[in-house]
Amino acid sequence: MKYFPFQQLSTTNERFAKELHEAACRVIDSGRYLLGEETHAFETELSQFIGSAHAVATANGLEAIRLIFAAYIEMGRLHPGDGVLVPANTFIASLLPLSQLGLRPLLVDPDARTMSVSLSKFASEITPDVKAVLAVHLYGLPSFTPEGLNYLRSKNIILVEDNAQAIGAEVFDPTTGKTIRTGNMGDAAAFSFYPAKNIGALGDGGAVTTSDSDLAKTIRQLSNYGGSRKYHYDMKGFNSRMDEIQAAFLRVKLPHTMEERERREAAAAAYDSSIEHRDIILPSRHPNLRQAWHQYVVRTPERDRLARFLTAQGVETMIHYPIPPHLQKCYVGQFPGSFPIAEKLATEILSLPIANINSQDAIEIAQIINSFK
Ligand SMILES: *Cc1c(COP(=O)(O)O)cnc(C)c1O
Repeated sequence: MKYFPFQQLSTTNERFAKELHEAACRVIDSGRYLLGEETHAFETELSQFIGSAHAVATANGLEAIRLIFAAYIEMGRLHPGDGVLVPANTFIASLLPLSQLGLRPLLVDPDARTMSVSLSKFASEITPDVKAVLAVHLYGLPSFTPEGLNYLRSKNIILVEDNAQAIGAEVFDPTTGKTIRTGNMGDAAAFSFYPAKNIGALGDGGAVTTSDSDLAKTIRQLSNYGGSRKYHYDMKGFNSRMDEIQAAFLRVKLPHTMEERERREAAAAAYDSSIEHRDIILPSRHPNLRQAWHQYVVRTPERDRLARFLTAQGVETMIHYPIPPHLQKCYVGQFPGSFPIAEKLATEILSLPIANINSQDAIEIAQIINSFK
């Protein structure tokens, strides 16, 4: 029996092995391990890729989100107690920095079909309490809608993207005729380079992109203890820097982002056309959204049985995520409202392998799925 692992990081990185070894040696020999040439070059390359004026490398994705919101508080644009809209079915790391900063996360139940909260849906949830939106491009699906974006702009709502799962995703805006990459839609965006993300470091890494120079400067300062220069501290900051060695590794992998997206697109297309099962719902498609396919998530009321069947057939699957944040012990009872769709999705979703597979593998996995009774 053939075995399809969900993701093996050694497989993910093996084709870059030679360049990664060279990058590691370069950093070891340089004697500079933080805030050096590699980090600087990576920031330039990332901002060029995204189309933003600035990029600031950070220790990880959670810190990227924390730095953005902490900087807005420092700048007086946000205040503790302000409401921030966030999808109810996101990963916990979208929410932790908000509550830790004393902001008030307000959860929005996702759309059942897209499993996502679009900018239009956020726009419909704006109240006088809401000062910012944290849009999450969950599974690599851009949450963009031109109407939603225009509405948030017209109301002066700060729009932050959690782009941890969507590097390489693009949206076509028919109202302007322009194609925009996720990470360049709103006021600032957070990236994660956790090893299993579409572009992963060999350890932790993250980044913020923005075209707001004041914000970029504040974030850079906050990420380095809050200092304006060495031993002069204007703000109470953090230590949230990226290591030089991770920046050097990411410089090897960043240029392959579109190639990675295309491989994932091909596997997703093969799943789309090969899975035929009346109890299984496939991920939604949108003509103007080019997904990054961080996960390929199917839905079925028979999820647990399907997962067990696939395991027995050599196909490893995962659930992103089995318990929504509002039902986690650390948050239970703390969010106003009810989130029935997020709760239902958590019982029905199943992520199929997409990280290391080609379209032929996807066809074989689809045939196994089609034989599920
Ligand atoms: C991975 C992830 C994060 C956190 O990134 P880390 O680098 O693991 O801290 C935040 N939000 C989402 C949606 C993620 O998938």
